Amino acid sequence: MPKLFIPGPIDVSKETFAAMSQPMIGHRGSEFEALYASLQPGLKELAGTTRPVFLSTSSAWGVMEASLRNLGGKKVLNLCNGAFSDKWFDVSKKIGLDADKIQVEWGQTIDPEAVRAKLSEGGFDLVTLIHNETSTGVMADLEGIAKVVKSFPGVLLIVDSVSSFSAVPIEMDKLGIDVLLAGVQKALALPPGLTVFAVSEDAMARAKETPNRGYYFDFLEFAKNAEANNTPSTPAISLLFGLQQIMENIAAEGVSNRFARHASNNAMIHAWGEKHGFKNFAPEGNQSVSLTCFATPESLDLSAFIKTLKTKHGFVINGGYGKIKGTTFRISNMGNETTETMQELIDAMDDVLG
Ligand SMILES: *Cc1c(COP(=O)(O)O)cnc(C)c1O
Repeated sequence: MPKLFIPGPIDVSKETFAAMSQPMIGHRGSEFEALYASLQPGLKELAGTTRPVFLSTSSAWGVMEASLRNLGGKKVLNLCNGAFSDKWFDVSKKIGLDADKIQVEWGQTIDPEAVRAKLSEGGFDLVTLIHNETSTGVMADLEGIAKVVKSFPGVLLIVDSVSSFSAVPIEMDKLGIDVLLAGVQKALALPPGLTVFAVSEDAMARAKETPNRGYYFDFLEFAKNAEANNTPSTPAISLLFGLQQIMENIAAEGVSNRFARHASNNAMIHAWGEKHGFKNFAPEGNQSVSLTCFATPESLDLSAFIKTLKTKHGFVINGGYGKIKGTTFRISNMGNETTETMQELIDAMDDVLG
Protein backbone atom coordinates (compact mmCIF):
# COMPACT_ATOMS: atom_id res chain seq x y z
CA MET A 1 0.00 0.00 0.00
CA PRO A 2 1.30 3.50 -0.80
CA LYS A 3 2.33 5.62 2.18
CA LEU A 4 0.76 9.06 2.53
CA PHE A 5 2.89 12.18 2.83
CA ILE A 6 -0.05 14.40 1.88
CA PRO A 7 -1.19 17.01 4.43
CA GLY A 8 -4.05 14.88 5.70
CA PRO A 9 -5.18 12.26 6.04
CA ILE A 10 -1.70 11.00 6.80
CA ASP A 11 -0.12 7.63 7.43
CA VAL A 12 -1.68 5.72 10.35
CA SER A 13 0.54 3.30 12.26
CA LYS A 14 -0.14 -0.41 12.72
CA GLU A 15 -0.17 0.20 16.49
CA THR A 16 -2.95 2.76 16.11
CA PHE A 17 -5.01 0.41 13.92
CA ALA A 18 -4.45 -2.37 16.46
CA ALA A 19 -5.67 -0.13 19.30
CA MET A 20 -8.73 0.76 17.23
CA SER A 21 -9.70 -2.88 16.81
CA GLN A 22 -10.32 -3.46 20.53
CA PRO A 23 -13.72 -4.99 21.40
CA MET A 24 -16.55 -2.47 21.46
CA ILE A 25 -17.77 -0.95 24.73
CA GLY A 26 -21.00 0.85 25.52
CA HIS A 27 -20.70 4.62 25.71
CA ARG A 28 -22.93 5.02 28.79
CA GLY A 29 -20.76 3.05 31.17
CA SER A 30 -17.72 3.28 33.39
CA GLU A 31 -15.32 1.82 30.79
CA PHE A 32 -16.19 4.61 28.39
CA GLU A 33 -15.94 7.26 31.11
CA ALA A 34 -12.45 5.98 31.94
CA LEU A 35 -11.47 6.11 28.26
CA TYR A 36 -12.81 9.66 27.94
CA ALA A 37 -11.10 10.82 31.13
CA SER A 38 -7.77 9.26 30.13
CA LEU A 39 -7.64 11.52 27.04
CA GLN A 40 -8.17 14.78 28.88
CA PRO A 41 -4.77 15.56 30.45
CA GLY A 42 -2.83 15.06 27.21
CA LEU A 43 -5.30 16.95 25.05
CA LYS A 44 -5.39 19.84 27.54
CA GLU A 45 -1.60 20.00 27.50
CA LEU A 46 -1.50 20.12 23.69
CA ALA A 47 -4.18 22.83 23.62
CA GLY A 48 -2.62 24.85 26.43
CA THR A 49 -5.87 24.95 28.36
CA THR A 50 -7.47 23.96 31.64
CA ARG A 51 -10.85 23.83 29.88
CA PRO A 52 -12.37 20.43 29.09
CA VAL A 53 -11.57 19.14 25.60
CA PHE A 54 -14.72 17.98 23.81
CA LEU A 55 -14.80 15.10 21.33
CA SER A 56 -16.95 15.56 18.26
CA THR A 57 -17.68 12.67 15.94
CA SER A 58 -17.37 14.72 12.78
CA SER A 59 -14.69 16.05 10.55
CA ALA A 60 -13.24 19.46 11.43
CA TRP A 61 -15.83 21.29 9.35
CA GLY A 62 -18.54 20.08 11.70
CA VAL A 63 -16.99 22.05 14.55
CA MET A 64 -15.93 24.95 12.30
CA GLU A 65 -19.57 25.39 11.34
CA ALA A 66 -20.78 24.65 14.87
CA SER A 67 -18.57 27.41 16.27
CA LEU A 68 -20.32 29.91 14.01
CA ARG A 69 -23.76 28.55 14.92
CA ASN A 70 -23.01 28.62 18.68
CA LEU A 71 -21.24 31.98 18.79
CA GLY A 72 -22.44 33.93 15.75
CA GLY A 73 -24.18 37.02 17.06
CA LYS A 74 -23.83 40.43 15.50
CA LYS A 75 -21.12 40.16 12.86
CA VAL A 76 -18.28 37.77 12.10
CA LEU A 77 -14.91 38.67 10.61
CA ASN A 78 -13.30 35.82 8.65
CA LEU A 79 -9.55 36.10 8.05
CA CYS A 80 -8.95 34.68 4.57
CA ASN A 81 -5.65 33.65 2.94
CA GLY A 82 -6.23 30.19 1.48
CA ALA A 83 -8.72 27.45 0.67
CA PHE A 84 -9.86 26.62 4.20
CA SER A 85 -10.04 30.19 5.50
CA ASP A 86 -11.81 31.41 2.33
CA LYS A 87 -14.36 28.62 2.71
CA TRP A 88 -15.01 29.59 6.33
CA PHE A 89 -16.24 32.97 5.04
CA ASP A 90 -18.56 31.16 2.59
CA VAL A 91 -19.87 28.96 5.41
CA SER A 92 -20.55 32.05 7.56
CA LYS A 93 -22.75 33.40 4.79
CA LYS A 94 -24.36 30.03 4.07
CA ILE A 95 -25.71 29.84 7.62
CA GLY A 96 -27.03 33.37 7.37
CA LEU A 97 -24.53 35.30 9.49
CA ASP A 98 -23.59 38.88 8.80
CA ALA A 99 -20.03 38.22 7.64
CA ASP A 100 -17.13 40.35 6.46
CA LYS A 101 -13.57 39.34 5.64
CA ILE A 102 -9.99 40.39 5.31
CA GLN A 103 -8.75 38.77 2.12
CA VAL A 104 -5.10 38.50 1.19
CA GLU A 105 -3.47 36.56 -1.64
CA TRP A 106 -3.05 32.83 -1.14
CA GLY A 107 0.45 32.27 0.14
CA GLN A 108 0.45 35.52 2.12
CA THR A 109 -0.13 36.00 5.81
CA ILE A 110 -2.55 38.31 7.60
CA ASP A 111 -1.08 41.33 9.36
CA PRO A 112 -2.40 41.80 12.92
CA GLU A 113 -2.58 45.54 12.21
CA ALA A 114 -5.01 44.88 9.34
CA VAL A 115 -7.18 42.99 11.85
CA ARG A 116 -6.99 45.96 14.23
CA ALA A 117 -8.03 48.36 11.48
CA LYS A 118 -10.96 46.17 10.44
CA LEU A 119 -12.22 45.56 13.98
CA SER A 120 -11.95 49.30 14.65
CA GLU A 121 -14.73 49.82 12.11
CA GLY A 122 -16.94 48.37 14.86
CA GLY A 123 -19.89 45.98 14.97
CA PHE A 124 -17.92 42.71 15.08
CA ASP A 125 -18.26 40.15 17.86
CA LEU A 126 -16.50 37.13 16.34
CA VAL A 127 -13.29 36.38 14.38
CA THR A 128 -12.22 33.17 12.64
CA LEU A 129 -8.57 32.33 12.05
CA ILE A 130 -6.86 29.33 10.48
CA HIS A 131 -3.62 28.85 12.39
CA ASN A 132 -1.95 26.79 9.69
CA GLU A 133 -3.39 27.28 6.17
CA THR A 134 -2.86 23.74 4.95
CA SER A 135 -3.56 24.75 1.33
CA THR A 136 -0.61 27.17 1.18
CA GLY A 137 1.71 26.15 4.02
CA VAL A 138 1.33 29.54 5.69
CA MET A 139 1.37 29.63 9.48
CA ALA A 140 -0.41 32.66 10.92
CA ASP A 141 0.93 35.07 13.52
CA LEU A 142 -1.43 33.53 16.07
CA GLU A 143 -0.02 35.43 19.03
CA GLY A 144 -0.10 38.79 17.23
CA ILE A 145 -3.63 38.33 15.93
CA ALA A 146 -4.94 36.98 19.25
CA LYS A 147 -3.48 40.00 21.05
CA VAL A 148 -5.28 42.37 18.70
CA VAL A 149 -8.61 40.52 18.91
CA LYS A 150 -8.39 40.44 22.71
CA SER A 151 -7.95 44.22 22.78
CA PHE A 152 -11.56 44.50 21.50
CA PRO A 153 -13.88 43.61 24.38
CA GLY A 154 -16.72 41.29 23.42
CA VAL A 155 -15.02 39.94 20.31
CA LEU A 156 -14.49 36.17 20.45
CA LEU A 157 -11.73 34.33 18.57
CA ILE A 158 -12.20 30.91 16.93
CA VAL A 159 -8.97 29.20 15.89
CA ASP A 160 -8.69 26.22 13.55
CA SER A 161 -5.50 24.38 14.45
CA VAL A 162 -6.37 21.35 12.33
CA SER A 163 -2.92 20.93 10.78
CA SER A 164 -0.86 22.45 13.61
CA PHE A 165 -2.32 20.78 16.71
CA SER A 166 0.36 18.61 18.39
CA ALA A 167 3.00 19.79 15.88
CA VAL A 168 3.65 23.16 17.54
CA PRO A 169 2.86 24.59 20.99
CA ILE A 170 -0.53 26.33 21.19
CA GLU A 171 -1.46 28.35 24.26
CA MET A 172 -5.24 28.60 24.20
CA ASP A 173 -5.69 30.07 27.69
CA LYS A 174 -2.70 32.40 27.58
CA LEU A 175 -3.67 33.84 24.19
CA GLY A 176 -7.36 34.08 25.08
CA ILE A 177 -8.52 31.82 22.26
CA ASP A 178 -12.27 31.15 22.65
CA VAL A 179 -12.61 28.04 20.52
CA LEU A 180 -9.66 25.87 19.52
CA LEU A 181 -10.39 22.93 17.24
CA ALA A 182 -8.46 20.19 15.42
CA GLY A 183 -9.36 17.21 13.26
CA VAL A 184 -7.47 14.05 14.20
CA GLN A 185 -6.51 12.96 10.66
CA LYS A 186 -3.78 15.58 10.41
CA ALA A 187 -0.91 15.83 12.89
CA LEU A 188 -2.47 13.33 15.32
CA ALA A 189 -2.15 10.60 12.68
CA LEU A 190 -5.54 8.95 13.15
CA PRO A 191 -8.06 7.97 10.50
CA PRO A 192 -10.56 10.79 9.83
CA GLY A 193 -13.90 11.17 11.62
CA LEU A 194 -13.14 12.87 14.93
CA THR A 195 -12.51 16.46 15.99
CA VAL A 196 -11.23 17.66 19.35
CA PHE A 197 -12.13 21.15 20.57
CA ALA A 198 -12.17 23.35 23.64
CA VAL A 199 -14.37 26.34 24.43
CA SER A 200 -13.59 29.26 26.75
CA GLU A 201 -15.92 30.41 29.55
CA ASP A 202 -16.72 33.59 27.60
CA ALA A 203 -17.65 31.51 24.56
CA MET A 204 -19.85 29.22 26.67
CA ALA A 205 -21.64 32.31 28.00
CA ARG A 206 -22.17 33.52 24.43
CA ALA A 207 -23.48 30.13 23.35
CA LYS A 208 -26.02 30.19 26.18
CA GLU A 209 -27.50 33.36 24.71
CA THR A 210 -27.47 32.13 21.12
CA PRO A 211 -30.80 30.70 19.92
CA ASN A 212 -31.26 27.75 17.53
CA ARG A 213 -28.03 25.95 18.36
CA GLY A 214 -29.61 22.64 17.46
CA TYR A 215 -28.59 19.46 19.25
CA TYR A 216 -25.73 17.52 17.63
CA PHE A 217 -23.24 20.40 17.78
CA ASP A 218 -24.65 22.31 20.76
CA PHE A 219 -21.73 23.45 22.93
CA LEU A 220 -23.95 23.33 26.02
CA GLU A 221 -24.71 19.65 25.40
CA PHE A 222 -20.99 18.94 25.05
CA ALA A 223 -20.25 20.80 28.30
CA LYS A 224 -23.01 19.06 30.25
CA ASN A 225 -21.88 15.61 29.10
CA ALA A 226 -18.19 16.41 29.62
CA GLU A 227 -18.88 16.82 33.34
CA ALA A 228 -19.68 13.10 33.36
CA ASN A 229 -16.81 12.20 30.99
CA ASN A 230 -19.20 11.62 28.16
CA THR A 231 -20.45 12.91 24.82
CA PRO A 232 -23.97 14.01 23.77
CA SER A 233 -24.40 11.18 21.26
CA THR A 234 -22.66 7.88 20.48
CA PRO A 235 -19.10 8.80 19.55
CA ALA A 236 -16.68 7.03 17.19
CA ILE A 237 -15.43 4.81 20.01
CA SER A 238 -12.84 3.02 17.85
CA LEU A 239 -11.26 6.35 17.00
CA LEU A 240 -11.14 7.17 20.71
CA PHE A 241 -9.25 3.91 21.33
CA GLY A 242 -6.85 5.03 18.61
CA LEU A 243 -6.56 8.48 20.15
CA GLN A 244 -5.76 6.91 23.51
CA GLN A 245 -2.85 5.03 21.92
CA ILE A 246 -1.61 8.23 20.25
CA MET A 247 -1.84 10.17 23.51
CA GLU A 248 0.18 7.46 25.27
CA ASN A 249 2.83 7.80 22.54
CA ILE A 250 2.88 11.56 22.93
CA ALA A 251 3.24 11.29 26.71
CA ALA A 252 6.11 8.83 26.28
CA GLU A 253 7.87 11.03 23.72
CA GLY A 254 7.19 14.27 25.61
CA VAL A 255 5.46 17.19 23.92
CA SER A 256 8.57 19.33 23.55
CA ASN A 257 10.41 16.43 21.90
CA ARG A 258 7.43 15.99 19.61
CA PHE A 259 7.50 19.67 18.62
CA ALA A 260 11.28 19.47 18.04
CA ARG A 261 10.87 16.34 15.91
CA HIS A 262 8.31 18.08 13.69
CA ALA A 263 10.60 21.10 13.32
CA SER A 264 13.61 19.00 12.35
CA ASN A 265 11.62 16.78 9.94
CA ASN A 266 10.26 19.92 8.35
CA ALA A 267 13.75 21.42 8.06
CA MET A 268 14.84 18.31 6.13
CA ILE A 269 12.19 19.02 3.47
CA HIS A 270 13.14 22.70 3.35
CA ALA A 271 16.78 21.73 2.80
CA TRP A 272 15.78 19.23 0.12
CA GLY A 273 13.75 21.93 -1.68
CA GLU A 274 16.59 24.40 -1.46
CA LYS A 275 18.99 21.88 -2.97
CA HIS A 276 16.69 21.57 -5.99
CA GLY A 277 16.01 25.32 -6.20
CA PHE A 278 12.34 24.93 -5.24
CA LYS A 279 10.85 28.11 -3.84
CA ASN A 280 8.76 27.93 -0.68
CA PHE A 281 5.24 29.22 -1.41
CA ALA A 282 4.92 30.67 2.10
CA PRO A 283 6.90 33.73 3.18
CA GLU A 284 9.92 33.46 5.47
CA GLY A 285 8.82 33.72 9.09
CA ASN A 286 5.32 32.35 8.40
CA GLN A 287 6.16 28.90 7.08
CA SER A 288 4.33 25.92 8.49
CA VAL A 289 6.40 23.35 10.37
CA SER A 290 3.96 20.48 9.76
CA LEU A 291 3.95 20.65 5.98
CA THR A 292 5.83 22.39 3.18
CA CYS A 293 4.24 23.99 0.13
CA PHE A 294 6.58 24.60 -2.83
CA ALA A 295 5.90 26.63 -5.96
CA THR A 296 6.20 24.28 -8.94
CA PRO A 297 9.14 25.35 -11.10
CA GLU A 298 8.66 25.54 -14.90
CA SER A 299 11.28 22.84 -15.33
CA LEU A 300 9.38 20.24 -13.29
CA ASP A 301 6.77 17.92 -14.78
CA LEU A 302 4.81 17.80 -11.53
CA SER A 303 2.25 15.15 -12.42
CA ALA A 304 4.94 12.79 -13.77
CA PHE A 305 7.02 13.38 -10.61
CA ILE A 306 4.10 12.60 -8.30
CA LYS A 307 3.00 9.60 -10.35
CA THR A 308 6.46 8.00 -10.52
CA LEU A 309 7.07 8.63 -6.82
CA LYS A 310 3.93 6.63 -6.12
CA THR A 311 4.36 3.80 -8.64
CA LYS A 312 8.11 3.31 -8.15
CA HIS A 313 8.49 4.07 -4.43
CA GLY A 314 5.00 3.90 -2.95
CA PHE A 315 5.07 7.43 -1.53
CA VAL A 316 2.23 9.89 -2.07
CA ILE A 317 2.71 13.66 -1.97
CA ASN A 318 0.10 16.25 -2.92
CA GLY A 319 -0.04 18.20 -6.19
CA GLY A 320 -1.55 21.40 -4.84
CA TYR A 321 -5.00 22.34 -3.55
CA GLY A 322 -7.85 24.36 -5.02
CA LYS A 323 -6.86 27.17 -7.33
CA ILE A 324 -3.13 26.52 -6.80
CA LYS A 325 -3.36 22.86 -7.85
CA GLY A 326 -0.48 22.14 -10.18
CA THR A 327 1.30 25.43 -9.59
CA THR A 328 2.26 24.26 -6.09
CA PHE A 329 2.88 20.92 -4.40
CA ARG A 330 2.85 19.93 -0.75
CA ILE A 331 4.70 17.48 1.46
CA SER A 332 3.55 16.64 4.97
CA ASN A 333 5.85 15.83 7.87
CA MET A 334 3.04 15.40 10.40
CA GLY A 335 2.44 12.56 12.79
CA ASN A 336 4.80 9.70 13.47
CA GLU A 337 7.52 10.49 10.91
CA THR A 338 11.15 10.25 11.97
CA THR A 339 14.49 11.37 10.53
CA GLU A 340 14.76 7.92 8.94
CA THR A 341 11.32 7.90 7.32
CA MET A 342 11.74 11.47 6.06
CA GLN A 343 15.11 10.47 4.60
CA GLU A 344 13.46 7.52 2.80
CA LEU A 345 11.03 9.94 1.20
CA ILE A 346 13.83 12.36 0.26
CA ASP A 347 15.93 9.56 -1.28
CA ALA A 348 12.93 8.40 -3.28
CA MET A 349 12.15 11.94 -4.48
CA ASP A 350 15.81 12.44 -5.47
CA ASP A 351 15.73 9.16 -7.36
CA VAL A 352 12.68 10.26 -9.33
CA LEU A 353 14.13 13.70 -10.05
CA GLY A 354 17.28 11.93 -11.32
C1 LIG B 1 -8.07 19.53 6.59
C2 LIG B 1 -8.42 20.87 7.10
C3 LIG B 1 -9.75 21.23 7.35
C4 LIG B 1 -10.91 20.39 6.97
O1 LIG B 1 -11.02 19.29 7.71
P1 LIG B 1 -12.15 18.19 7.44
O2 LIG B 1 -11.70 17.16 8.35
O3 LIG B 1 -12.09 17.85 5.99
O4 LIG B 1 -13.44 18.78 7.81
C5 LIG B 1 -10.00 22.46 7.91
N1 LIG B 1 -9.01 23.31 8.21
C6 LIG B 1 -7.73 23.01 7.96
C7 LIG B 1 -6.66 24.00 8.30
C8 LIG B 1 -7.39 21.78 7.40
O5 LIG B 1 -6.11 21.48 7.16
